[in-house]
Amino acid sequence: MLLIPCPHCRQSRPEREFRHCGEAGLLRPVDPAAASDREWTDYLFARTNPKGESQERWRHVHGCGRFFVLRRDTREDACVTSRAGVEEAP
Ligand SMILES: [Zn+2]
Repeated sequence: MLLIPCPHCRQSRPEREFRHCGEAGLLRPVDPAAASDREWTDYLFARTNPKGESQERWRHVHGCGRFFVLRRDTREDACVTSRAGVEEAP
């Protein structure tokens, strides 16, 4: 079982209390109507999917309900660190 450190609750809790909310640092085009098809497609579907450390948005849905950024090593499925805040540039 993966234990995830919630930076708001300041304790590690079981994964089932959380919801993965995708890659951190994705920025929605300011004016979607003006975005090219490529820009919009990249925003919706393109992900880095790294082998190694990734930065992901998570929400502690069955706890404090708040969002945070988790650095997770995808090779080991292990949490590296977490921090309050919802976005970080890749
Ligand atoms: Zn929490």
